[in-house]
Amino acid sequence: MTWSTTTDAAPTGAGPLGDALSQLDAALAHLGLNGGTRQMLATPRRELAVSIPLRRDDGSIAVYTGYRVQHNFSRGPAKGGLRFASNVDLDEVRALAMWMTWKCALVDVPYGGAKGGIAIDPRTHSLPELERVTRRYTSEILPIIGPTKDIPAPDIGTNEQTMAWIMDTYSAAVGHTVPGVVTGKPLSLGGSLGRAAATSRGVAHIALMAMTSRGVDPEHATAVVQGFGKVGRDAARFLSAAGVRIIAVSDVDGAIYDERGLDIARLSDHADRHGTVAGFEGTEAIDPASILTLDVDLAVPAAVEGVLTGANADHVQARIIVEGANGPTTREADAILADKGVLVVPDILANAGGVVVSYFEWVQANQAWQWSEADVNQRLEEKMTTAWHAVVGYAGAHSLSYREAATALAVQRVTDAHRLRGLYP
Ligand code: GLU
Repeated sequence: MTWSTTTDAAPTGAGPLGDALSQLDAALAHLGLNGGTRQMLATPRRELAVSIPLRRDDGSIAVYTGYRVQHNFSRGPAKGGLRFASNVDLDEVRALAMWMTWKCALVDVPYGGAKGGIAIDPRTHSLPELERVTRRYTSEILPIIGPTKDIPAPDIGTNEQTMAWIMDTYSAAVGHTVPGVVTGKPLSLGGSLGRAAATSRGVAHIALMAMTSRGVDPEHATAVVQGFGKVGRDAARFLSAAGVRIIAVSDVDGAIYDERGLDIARLSDHADRHGTVAGFEGTEAIDPASILTLDVDLAVPAAVEGVLTGANADHVQARIIVEGANGPTTREADAILADKGVLVVPDILANAGGVVVSYFEWVQANQAWQWSEADVNQRLEEKMTTAWHAVVGYAGAHSLSYREAATALAVQRVTDAHRLRGLYP
């Protein structure tokens, strides 16, 4: 187990951490905060790097590296997903943890921010191997997680089964069942109705409000969705149900296009059967790299970070971008899109529905009480709508972009909490 305090936190660094730090710096400059506050917020409160040895099914041993970064606790226990992907590294997890702090503050759930990751490609491992990796990782990070400390959830490459294993490993270690240690659990283990589709429901809700605010009628609008996983698939479904014509969708294996609009229910069946959207009958295969620059009203990047960059942002034709993914827009792209007048609804607002319903799940688990799906969805909409109006109002009042406004609002809430608590000792 390696404990460390960090970081150099260079604002000019490349990749997601550089983007996150430059967003933080813009918010601090707007709020007139600097010096010690900047150092506090640029530096995670706690980081843990662990080595995870795995006995593979063939008897050989492989060793992976896992991380848990707890960026901030000022407003409550740390909260954030766990990612399994081969390119996971510490700086990426730091950026994602920082964004979780802002996200939780912006939608006003009583959490700080955290993120975990293991540098492993889950697609090249069997289910028993993934179970062993998950349980070993959990036992390594056990001292720093818990329902009042840090509550993991699914992210890229993990799912409700992963959460069930974490819950079971944690519960076995402490000697009793603790459903509140993770969210995004299976329903039968204390998961919440509405959690699985919550991120997508929030993305669609925000996208519809964004369209309305720009005078775009959803019934006559076109959209593209990059990513057909936990976020993109249901976002496409909800948008399509609202009348939006989804003309292209992509995933890691390909992209498909149909000018008439894709039948999302049939596309979902195809993706379930074939593991990809590629090859969906009656559609044209297009270059996945081109999907975000197609001529549409709305683009929803719902895959990974850093897909809108200084190299392609100038070619974006969409009027509105709603960030289903965390960190899809680099700071170079942000500046170009702002110049072009494209409305970018930032990740910490657009995709916050997931952590909102994670919070509802945690409340339900801690009280051993289950809410109806209608209650969950209604409270989710209320949270998203409130956050949307707060961001739009603040942006208007201070002439900021929605990202600047959202980050400034969140940073203000975190620093207010910190000031009230004081610095110990
Ligand atoms: N991984 C999701 C996110 O990035 C959900 C986190 C959570 O529910 O804790 O927001």
